[in-house]
Amino acid sequence: MGSRKDVEIRGLTIGGSSPVRVESMIKTPLSDLEQCAAECEALAKEGCELIRVSLPDLALSENMKILNSRSSIPIMADIHFNHRLAIAALEAGCASIRINPGNMSDRKGTEDVIRLARSLGAVIRIGANGGSISKAQLEHTMGDRSAALAFAVDEQVNILRDCSFENIIISAKSSSVTETIRANSLLSQKYPYPIHIGITEAGAGTAGIIKGAAGISVMLAQGIGDTIRVSLTGPSVEEVKVGYRILGSLEIRERGYNLISCPTCGRKRIDVTKLVEEVKALLPDNIKDGTTIAVMGCEVNGPREAAGADLGIAGTPDGFVLFRKGRAVCNDTSDNLKKRLIEEIKKL
Ligand code: SF4
Repeated sequence: MGSRKDVEIRGLTIGGSSPVRVESMIKTPLSDLEQCAAECEALAKEGCELIRVSLPDLALSENMKILNSRSSIPIMADIHFNHRLAIAALEAGCASIRINPGNMSDRKGTEDVIRLARSLGAVIRIGANGGSISKAQLEHTMGDRSAALAFAVDEQVNILRDCSFENIIISAKSSSVTETIRANSLLSQKYPYPIHIGITEAGAGTAGIIKGAAGISVMLAQGIGDTIRVSLTGPSVEEVKVGYRILGSLEIRERGYNLISCPTCGRKRIDVTKLVEEVKALLPDNIKDGTTIAVMGCEVNGPREAAGADLGIAGTPDGFVLFRKGRAVCNDTSDNLKKRLIEEIKKL
């Protein structure tokens, strides 16, 4: 979306004119290969396009190799501290690795990783995390944490560039929304590389979703971000669902249906809350991306909103009206609502 350069990971392009990608990270340890494969499959089904997998131990390299062969979408190995793990991940078929050259003490080893990645055409994602900003980086930026995050990325980019490596994705994340936005703003002005965005350690449930959505949305609205991850303390498929909801809300990218429903008030003629759940259960999995369904409680705003949808329902004093693409197709009593709904959903 925002970057001048793009990269390719096993056929997946990121950056440049590519769509904003949605990624996640599996939560299962690599030692449990069957569960890892199942989690990857569930993520792929949900539309995840890149999966990050931790490789904390060389003994798990064989599992990484098998997972690579079984996953229908590309894997990015998540590596810390030891350059040998990065080499093992590349040799296990990972077309991308996420490393932090700053926490790899062996400079020659890091250069070996970069050389191998270049020879394989692999992508290296580097990044800074708010939790690992050093005292020296903070001093360099006179205590400005956003600038320190960006500076930490500078240090890592320089290591790759010293080795003439350009197949790079960068990222700077912190658990502070404002800090992350500012850091990424600095990076996007400076570098042509694709930027991976998200708010790290955003939390769980509604609070986590809102924090992630707030940060990601502001950056996307500023034209920053080529691939997103919504970090949530919860199932990885939720991260992907929320990621697509964010992109859909910003009208950047559609996946699945778009459900409009009124908040209800004292005027409601039908049970909107119950009806929304019924409609969701009835909609087919293969519904065309961007199909709009409206569920509106009464005749105040209902008919107009419902008439603008692919399928709309509005409550009336006598029951309900069903609209298909702007045309009222049925006017009936509430008792017949579910039956009529099933008929109309089949025609979508
Ligand atoms: S559509 Fe009707 S029921 Fe729903 S919020 Fe508006 S006025 Fe209330």
